[in-house]
Amino acid sequence: MADPLAPPRVRFAPSPTGYLHVGGARTALFNWLYARQTGGAFLLRIEDTDKARSTDESERAIFEGLEWLGLNWDEQVVHQALGLPRHQRDANFLLSTGTAYRCFCTAAELEVMRKEAAARKDSFKYDRRCDRLSPEEITRRVDAGTPFVVRFRMPDGETAWDDAVHERIAFPNKDIEDFVILRSDGTPIYNLAVVSDDIDMGITLVMRGDDHISNTPKQIQLYRALGNEPPRFAHVPMIHGMDGKKLSKRHGAAGVEEFQAQGVLPDALDNFLALLGWSPGDDKERMTLLEMVSLFSLERIGPSASRFDHEKLLWLNGQYLQEIPAARLVEMLKPFHLPNCDAVLLDRAIMLHRSRARTLVGLAHALAIYGDDPRVFEPAGLKKFGGPEAAPLLRALAERLSVTEPFSHSTLEESGRALAAEKGRKLGDLAQPARLALTGVLASPPLFEMIEVLGKETTRRRLLAFADLIAREPEAH
Ligand code: GLU
Repeated sequence: MADPLAPPRVRFAPSPTGYLHVGGARTALFNWLYARQTGGAFLLRIEDTDKARSTDESERAIFEGLEWLGLNWDEQVVHQALGLPRHQRDANFLLSTGTAYRCFCTAAELEVMRKEAAARKDSFKYDRRCDRLSPEEITRRVDAGTPFVVRFRMPDGETAWDDAVHERIAFPNKDIEDFVILRSDGTPIYNLAVVSDDIDMGITLVMRGDDHISNTPKQIQLYRALGNEPPRFAHVPMIHGMDGKKLSKRHGAAGVEEFQAQGVLPDALDNFLALLGWSPGDDKERMTLLEMVSLFSLERIGPSASRFDHEKLLWLNGQYLQEIPAARLVEMLKPFHLPNCDAVLLDRAIMLHRSRARTLVGLAHALAIYGDDPRVFEPAGLKKFGGPEAAPLLRALAERLSVTEPFSHSTLEESGRALAAEKGRKLGDLAQPARLALTGVLASPPLFEMIEVLGKETTRRRLLAFADLIAREPEAH
């Protein structure tokens, strides 16, 4: 019997057969939060028994994804495939205690039984014929080298547990067939490997997706047959797309590394994932990992599926972008393509643009205007504001701004307004072509704040170059 006062031990057990899906990341996060809150251990087990589908690359994506999300694990990573001798020992133990038996039925024989059941309109369940073989017959077949699988014998009655998310769940055992635990090549089937490993790792709470609920009665029976108390179970509801269907690539990004590449911040993704199925109450939404550690509770995980709203994630990410310390933001932007400009200027530009960006990629993109002078101009902008009549206005603006002191956005704006008034124009008549001249596009942050960051030299150079361009014949541009 497990010591009820011993610290909890939980695990995340992904199969390394693809990218780290956000559903898996959410399961990892919940387990991590639980372990950190209770002073327990959060373990990582790579379920790599399917050699054909498991890849090193996928394993790396799992490690990197968890590290990026800040979900550090305790102890050595466990590789399920290395547990093979123990899996086989456990299967042999079950054979020796008579809770499992050898089944010599071939795939073809099973197929016939399946067809017969279908013809009777029955659902197929193995009829235990090999469980009735005499000990002599079994010995004879084993000695003759007849291949066999090992099946677990489901006892009578029902299997029930108090799920930490779904409350009580019960399955009548008669609905569960004597399931295979060891293949004829001696490799374990998922349910045996998981139970054997969870016992070996001392797991006290299994928290995983509720697509595993139908495996749990089988696993509970295996625990008991192996002489162990089952752990607690918490089956976390699935994540759906906005259309109510299981979340997949069809709904947009679904892998942690994709969100990383889009420039979502790990803190924002953690926060967003935590709210998929769990809430701390009081409508509280914004939380740091540390806050989540103190607020997390299994009781507040809801039993129904949650929806993955990409728009909400981007909104939340935008909030994080505004608030993280500047130095950290600069650091996080480094992997993205940044303009080649003075570091002080870049810092100021980041501070100016971050309130409008929703991702690091979007922010890096907006910063491009602080690099090379624009060479191409948005055609719609040219059509509207690129007429030769704007050239003298832009030249006058360039002169006026060059002599404005201090070169700060409020005095620059005053200068701009004064110039427009002198020319009998509205500020927009100056501002729109100026924006196009300075950035190549029509959308930008407030013009004079941007000019302040761009600096006197660059502003002047760009305004004059654009004035020259539009003063020429229209065919020239
Ligand atoms: N490897 C299983 C999966 O990726 C998880 C098994 C478990 O958590 O028990 O779905």
